[in-house]
Amino acid sequence: MTVEAHKETLEFKAEVSQVLDLVIRSLYSNKEIFLRELISNASDAAEKLRFEALSDDGLYEGDSELRIRVTADREAGTLTISDNGIGLGRQEVMETIGSIASSGTRRFIESMSGDQAKDSKLIGQFGVGFYSAYIVADRVTLISRRAGLGAEHGVRWESDGRGSYTLETVEKAGRGTDVILHLKEDEKEFLDSWRVRSIIGKFSDHIALPVEMAKELYGEEAEQKKGEPPEFEQVNRGTALWMRSKSEITDEEYNDFYKHVSHDFQPPLAHAHNRVEGTNEYTALLYVPSKAPWDLFDREQKHGVKLYVKRVFIMDEADKLMPHYLRFVKGVVDSDDLPLNVSREILQHNRKIDTIRQANTKRVLGLLETLATEEPEKYASFWDEFGKVIKEGPAEDFANREKIASLLRFASTHSEDNAQRVSFDDYLGRMKEGQDKIYYITADSPAAARFSPHLEVFRKKGVEVLLLSDRVDEWLVSHLTEYKDKPLQSVAKGDLDLGELADKDEQETREKAAAEHGTLLERLKTALGERVEAVRPSTRLVDSPACLVVGADDMSANLARVLKAVGQSAPETKPTLEVNLDHPLVRRLESETDEGRFGDLGMILFDQAQLAEGGQLDDPAGFVGRLNKLMLNMMMAGG
Ligand code: ADP
Ligand code: MG
Repeated sequence: MTVEAHKETLEFKAEVSQVLDLVIRSLYSNKEIFLRELISNASDAAEKLRFEALSDDGLYEGDSELRIRVTADREAGTLTISDNGIGLGRQEVMETIGSIASSGTRRFIESMSGDQAKDSKLIGQFGVGFYSAYIVADRVTLISRRAGLGAEHGVRWESDGRGSYTLETVEKAGRGTDVILHLKEDEKEFLDSWRVRSIIGKFSDHIALPVEMAKELYGEEAEQKKGEPPEFEQVNRGTALWMRSKSEITDEEYNDFYKHVSHDFQPPLAHAHNRVEGTNEYTALLYVPSKAPWDLFDREQKHGVKLYVKRVFIMDEADKLMPHYLRFVKGVVDSDDLPLNVSREILQHNRKIDTIRQANTKRVLGLLETLATEEPEKYASFWDEFGKVIKEGPAEDFANREKIASLLRFASTHSEDNAQRVSFDDYLGRMKEGQDKIYYITADSPAAARFSPHLEVFRKKGVEVLLLSDRVDEWLVSHLTEYKDKPLQSVAKGDLDLGELADKDEQETREKAAAEHGTLLERLKTALGERVEAVRPSTRLVDSPACLVVGADDMSANLARVLKAVGQSAPETKPTLEVNLDHPLVRRLESETDEGRFGDLGMILFDQAQLAEGGQLDDPAGFVGRLNKLMLNMMMAGG
């Protein structure tokens, strides 16, 4: 016997007990899911074996009929889930079962808030897996042997889930894993074969592997066969759901399968199921979830589409099967034409994979399009969850730019509040006579966008402006410059060119005004010095005295702020100050003869314009000082 064979008692990593508590408490109302989780692990283990056996069929040890068995022992009060899959070595047991190995669980712990109500809601988004056994068991024994190792390399793990576990080396003839649940006193219902069968039917029908249970024997037959080993029969359907014909599959089955592939507790929003024949044959079953996962914006976020080749599981998170901006899509692609030994490297440059990705993209975009037109409420909820990701699309996927653009939704000056959203097509339908551009504003909050002074003239003329306030919007508009031949135009960039919307008379009065007030503009430029590129009369403003604009090709002030906020450098662009020559404050400024006071007022005007568009002042204390001085002056003059 090796030293390792000695029984040892090990402490769980601290988090395990913590997670266990939470799992048990929050999943109790849904306790049957333990069976789904354990069967799903057994099925993963079978798929891993099948995959490894592609290059080493000795691993089958002469038994290539993979199956899962569920056995209840009434006398012992145990329910056992056995598989003849890949199995685990001693070290692997310590790493996977004894610690928080799966990154999902670890991230879950990291994101726990301590607020139990909140955390329990969160738990559904993570694959808590193995530990769900403790919902119904007060002790769990796992006996496993890695395929390809000798029978003497079995390992036995056992724990009551309260802080420590024991590990010992044992003999195990068959490869694979037995998970033995010692059921709690009040969970004995799971010894009832019919109860268990119905749960398997509900959760595991579509698993491509047979799940077997001992045949129930009655009367005479039961007497005769007493003491003999049980006969097993398959209790699930055991064919991969995606291989069945669409017309035979119920919505409920689609939803259950979704829960299996996604670990999500909620039903999906929509699905697309397609079989493609021809030179590149494959089946794709793709789902749009109803809720965004917690790690949607995590750079390491896993893609949700699994790749199978001829029903053999090849890999999870096959990121080549979906573009990045559709990374939330879950499902399965099963190819008949790829080689079984495909690796991630091969997938990188594979024409068949490229074709599949393109077709998948079209299907999902089509699915979303249908949802948007036929079930706008569902689409609105989809947009709340995933809109920000879709906005990455036009930059990533040039070929589908227009299609993606038609799926975009924005807050708008046309809608009452920011929750109500409009599409580009809605916008086009409301364009004013003579309008040839789609106007938008970017800001760092919906309120800053909606109340920006830049919108004043548009309000006055009744021209709609789209309000963009997601961080990704700047990225979006730098890649999406037109929609259906209508250019997108920021209202805060460049000379305002209203095209035919501009009022001829207005224009002329303004030009005259500019000539008349030339001295004021020059004085302001001198007072503000290097802070501004120029000072000019504005055609944008109605109620506000001043605003800042950047050059047509400059980075928007909002993007510069976003970049600075994430610690990146932004080119220093000088804004132009536009003043509203009709505004009483500007008029008053013009008559100010004290250059010191003029300078203060000019600075206040500039700082105000900065604040009004959601910017931050370089010298807030200076602003406050100047403002206070002004207020004191006023009060003294008044008193
Ligand atoms: P997940 O399945 O999401 O990885 P689980 O908690 O369900 O998380 O399982 C943790 C790990 O334990 C699995 O990734 C796997 O390595 C191992 N495992 C669990 N059950 C089995 C089994 N029946 N056969 C082989 N390995 C298993
Ligand atoms: Mg699992």
